[in-house]
Amino acid sequence: MIRLLRALQVVVAGVALGCTGAFAQSGKTEVLWLGQAAFRITTPGGKVIVIDPWLVTNPKTPAQYKDLAALGNVDAVLLTHGHFDHSANATDVAVRYKAKMVAPPGLLDTLTSTGALPAELQVRMNKSGIATPIGPEIKINMVRAEHSSDYVWKNPTTGKQETLPGGEPVGFIIELENGFKIYHMGDTGLFGDMKMIGDLYKPDLVLIPIGGNFTINAQLAAYAIREMIKPKFAIPMHYGTYPILAGKPEDFVSGLGNAPTKVFVLQPGEKATF
Ligand SMILES: [Zn+2]
Repeated sequence: MIRLLRALQVVVAGVALGCTGAFAQSGKTEVLWLGQAAFRITTPGGKVIVIDPWLVTNPKTPAQYKDLAALGNVDAVLLTHGHFDHSANATDVAVRYKAKMVAPPGLLDTLTSTGALPAELQVRMNKSGIATPIGPEIKINMVRAEHSSDYVWKNPTTGKQETLPGGEPVGFIIELENGFKIYHMGDTGLFGDMKMIGDLYKPDLVLIPIGGNFTINAQLAAYAIREMIKPKFAIPMHYGTYPILAGKPEDFVSGLGNAPTKVFVLQPGEKATF
């Protein structure tokens, strides 16, 4: 019976593709998953925030979104850390849309020193900071993530691969115009301050990695939601892209037991609306 009740709490959002731009000023929050840790959030006031855009070569990103022109008019890019599967198209998106980029300061410095990110698009902040680069009604809080953040690129003058500093990895808590709070955890291992983050920020929706190996797995993610963060809603991410990211959403859901958090299991290209 409990299992059945849990199953009923899993909401599989309907597929709604190809309606970018039609969402402006709807009063609702739209969350589109693009595979791995990439999301496009359209705010109640019509602002567009893209997080961790690895799109062009991501095997799970739907074909239409591999064309960066399909994102709509992006206002801000949020980047949690330097690894390729998060940062690959971040500067491409920021430059194309003249969108502000929020990222760990060490990573911003690296992206600018390589010539990929114009300095005027940087939003300078660090953990516990609150930035408002797209208007005072949208507050972007930078919080801890337990991970690493090197940035690997191919130096065009030498043709060799180099590893550059990427600052420290972070997560973001984005408070929207209507007070709805989205916590994108980035890549993270388990850490005790997830409880403090839950108590203090009270996120409504958590975008949480479940793949394991590089991050928390499905069971640890369920523990974090059930025992520490306790949000109303959760969307699992960072799983299934490669075999090594083996965490499964059904194990995440069953690990939640009787916790009241409602889980939206999306396929890349699907949206949930709040
Ligand atoms: Zn990573």
